[in-house]
Amino acid sequence: MGAECLFCRIVAREVAATVVHETERVLAFRDISPQAPVHVVVIPKEHHADVSALTAADPGLAGELLAAVAQVARAERLEHGFRTVLNSGADGGQTVFHVHAHLLGGRGLAWPPG
Ligand code: 5GP
Ligand code: ZN
Repeated sequence: MGAECLFCRIVAREVAATVVHETERVLAFRDISPQAPVHVVVIPKEHHADVSALTAADPGLAGELLAAVAQVARAERLEHGFRTVLNSGADGGQTVFHVHAHLLGGRGLAWPPG
């Protein structure tokens, strides 16, 4: 991937984003259209289309992604809780086809979502 993938371009710093956490293999940045007071997108730097592709190719990297979610939640002081969402495919509402976890928090979140 690369030029045609928005999140690969954020990894390459070709598109600006507010980065809140970075490791060798994972990047977290604020969502451009936040749906909660805290809304962070957590991605592997390597391109995988969705969670199915990621776990098939590199389950360890999926673990690093979740570890980063937990670390950002701590850093953002979401001690009252938070929600983690991985949208997959058209029915799942995925619009950027580079796997990402949404970390949402900072207010009570309804379940099921509206
Ligand atoms: P999806 O719908 O694929 O699960 O989530 C894609 C997310 O990426 C959306 O929440 C959307 O607001 C966010 N997004 C789209 N374009 C950009 C961008 O250029 N910068 C950032 N920081 N987030 C983006
Ligand atoms: Zn990508």
